[in-house]
Amino acid sequence: MKESRIARRTFLLKLAAVSLGVPMTGRGALRPGTRVIVIGAGVSGLAAAKSLHEAGATITVLEARNRIGGRIHTDRTTFEVPVEIGAQYVQGTKSDDGNVNPVWKMAQEQGWKSVAFATESAQLVRDGEAVDAEALTEGMEEFMAFLEEMDTEDSDSVEVAVRKFISEFELDAGEIADLRAMIASEVGLEYAGDIHAISIEGAGEAGGYGGGNHILTGGYDQVPNLLAAGLPNLRLEEVVTAVDYSGALCTVTTEKGTYQADYVICSLPLGVLQAESVRFTPALPSAKSKAIGRMGMGQLGKVILQFPERFWPKDVNWFLSLKLSPPWGIAFSNLDRVTPDHHLLVMWHSGTLAKERESLDDATIVKIALAELRAAVGESIPAPTRTLVTRWGSDPFSRGAYFFPKVGSTLGDVDELGKPYNRKRHKKGEATHAELFATVPGAIISGQREAKRIIHLASV
Ligand SMILES: Cc1cc2nc3c(=O)[nH]c(=O)nc-3n(C[C@H](O)[C@H](O)[C@H](O)COP(=O)(O)OP(=O)(O)OC[C@H]3O[C@@H](n4cnc5c(N)ncnc54)[C@H](O)[C@@H]3O)c2cc1C
Repeated sequence: MKESRIARRTFLLKLAAVSLGVPMTGRGALRPGTRVIVIGAGVSGLAAAKSLHEAGATITVLEARNRIGGRIHTDRTTFEVPVEIGAQYVQGTKSDDGNVNPVWKMAQEQGWKSVAFATESAQLVRDGEAVDAEALTEGMEEFMAFLEEMDTEDSDSVEVAVRKFISEFELDAGEIADLRAMIASEVGLEYAGDIHAISIEGAGEAGGYGGGNHILTGGYDQVPNLLAAGLPNLRLEEVVTAVDYSGALCTVTTEKGTYQADYVICSLPLGVLQAESVRFTPALPSAKSKAIGRMGMGQLGKVILQFPERFWPKDVNWFLSLKLSPPWGIAFSNLDRVTPDHHLLVMWHSGTLAKERESLDDATIVKIALAELRAAVGESIPAPTRTLVTRWGSDPFSRGAYFFPKVGSTLGDVDELGKPYNRKRHKKGEATHAELFATVPGAIISGQREAKRIIHLASV
């Protein structure tokens, strides 16, 4: 059951869980000697490889980067503590009907340390002063209720709803700015997209687990490391350029050589597929390539700043700086609870803004972040001691952060992308799970789903 049509891991508003309805694992008696190539060593590829390896397949994992984990990337050197460049939260623990988030399950079984990072623990600030959040939260709740009741068409974006709401309730300029700030942080960041591009209908399908957000203090990379433990034939720095599945065997070409197998599982991110940097022979079926073209690849960036001391609101995980013009709301997260005494702050940006800022050099982006911080908490802030800027959009092996439901596309496209398109090639990854898209558990479950399909196909 979903609480709202668009909220999922938003802060200030509480969330409900939904059922997954997807089998977690599958085992069968594989034909001896079955060979499978898995493209990509993110969590979906690793989960598939692990299931297949355990079922007896001969697997080869081909990964372009010099590390595993894909969009899970924990930096341990810049700040001398684990800091997440990519995925940050274990989003919820359990669904209403008892399904446990597979990441949470791993964390419990392995005894990994975590801290609850309640997104409701937030403060609103304007020009260095705290703002009473109650009125704004109520306004946002009214907007969500309005959205719930609104008659929408496939082509309606969140921006359409915002405009209708503003005109129906005759909001003044200040109220409009506050509403837009809340929406920028709650919807824009959540879906990593511009609100004029986010489809109300598609976003309404997003699911998740209840139980709030948690951060693994030892690093999110424990998840891919665990999935990869004991996997043979995991080859790094193998950039796949072509997949030929026209013959009896599939042939995968990398910049270093060629590999052959009975089956190929492709976990390339949606952004990489959209960029067409891998050639498929025969070409992808038209329904699939059209779906890829229509789907949205969101942009989400972080500017991570370390300061000699804390000067921001105490005991809150988030603070949102309200502005009177676009981008309306600037969200900062405070990592004090995760890495106490390291004085780490993260400024977030999404959509076109994130994409545009990626083209700037680090010094310029940090300067922007510091200006936003001054506007939020006051002019007198110390210089940061260390900084880190993320760039998922220009990374050739992700080309964006994660899938978002874009106007003009439906979740039928997500299903289409996840369908095997002949008996030998399978696509999976976070953008192929129709409810848990854009999440780590969604990616893991889709990897296990494809492994199960192959085990079924190749069983004696
Ligand atoms: C900034 C950010 C914040 C996020 N926050 C959260 C969060 O808080 N919680 C959450 O659950 N999820 C979050 N996500 C989403 C989550 O990280 C992804 O949904 C998940 O990690 C995707 O896994 P995947 O295996 O499908 O794809 P990926 O992890 O992208 O794996 C694909 C792999 O394919 C490789 N590859 C690409 N091109 C080639 C090629 N040509 N040849 C060979 N290999 C190739 C890549 O290097 C990569 O390793 C976030 C993502 C980002 C970027």
